[in-house]
Amino acid sequence: MTASRHICRICNSEDKHPTFIGREMMFGTREEFEYFQCNSCDCLQISNIPNDLSRFYPPEYYSLSLCQTTKRSILKDFLIKQRFRNALFNQGYKINQLISKFIEMPSLRLDEVLPVSQILKHAKIINFDARFLDIGCGSWSTWLEKLNIMGFRKLYGGDPFIKNDVIHNGITIFKNEINDIHGEFDLITMHHSLEHIPNQQKTLISASNLLAPNGVILVRIPIVSSYVWQKYKTKWVEMDAPRHLYLHSRKSIELLGKEAGLELYTSISDALDLEFYGSEQYLREIPLTAPNSYWLNHDNQIFTPEEIDYFKNMARKVNEDNVAGRACFFFKKINKLN
Ligand SMILES: [Zn+2]
Repeated sequence: MTASRHICRICNSEDKHPTFIGREMMFGTREEFEYFQCNSCDCLQISNIPNDLSRFYPPEYYSLSLCQTTKRSILKDFLIKQRFRNALFNQGYKINQLISKFIEMPSLRLDEVLPVSQILKHAKIINFDARFLDIGCGSWSTWLEKLNIMGFRKLYGGDPFIKNDVIHNGITIFKNEINDIHGEFDLITMHHSLEHIPNQQKTLISASNLLAPNGVILVRIPIVSSYVWQKYKTKWVEMDAPRHLYLHSRKSIELLGKEAGLELYTSISDALDLEFYGSEQYLREIPLTAPNSYWLNHDNQIFTPEEIDYFKNMARKVNEDNVAGRACFFFKKINKLN
């Protein structure tokens, strides 16, 4: 193993930290980037942040998550909201019983796995007046869209790299840096965006400044304290060099929160089978967007049905054992009185 002298950008530890070479494999340019893993806080981070990061976000990158909205009816929206009022806030029991016979509740999940209602409960959202902000959401936020279906209306997003502001279906997304966003929010989310941002401390402090007194910040990130990092190292699909500048450890994300006046109060592991089949693709030298990629098209038969089952089972297992390669971290403001 090689090592070289670096200063950790999370905990400031200056040391000879172990180094690793990651390669660009989403588009398959195979350009190499050095990372080091801090001896003290375990955060894996790119040694030198590239000057022109936009070079690694070609137009195809943004088209990977397009806005897909279907026509909705006002009456149906109202009835669905009543069902969620009961499911989320334990209100309207009778009306829910009545309409449950003819209005089915949509199954709203993040990445088709994690129930949105579970996140809202962890974030202590108590009514439909809650104000949401989604940081680094790109030009469309499927998270905010799901909240809109549930009946929430105060829905905002921010992303400095989009072409212009987007106002659609009751959701407003500003073309803005986090420091230029104003207001107060009850739940601020970063769904796989923090790892792309050069200045980690500044970002979390800015988010903390936008929190309502009992507000919550949810950070969803890839995690280096994981089975997949141990098994695949630089072939781990979520190392995603050089776009992922930081692969936090459980220790380093908690420390980052503390420095922003935030307490990490709970976490949920949310691995997908992607972290297994994507890493297996990289072992076989198949970029994520290659024509024969399983990620791009599940009809591409590069894996046997047994292998696909194995990936799904492993994703379940690492979630249960809390050693998944991605997790949701919930932060609240540190109560200065304690
Ligand atoms: Zn460190």
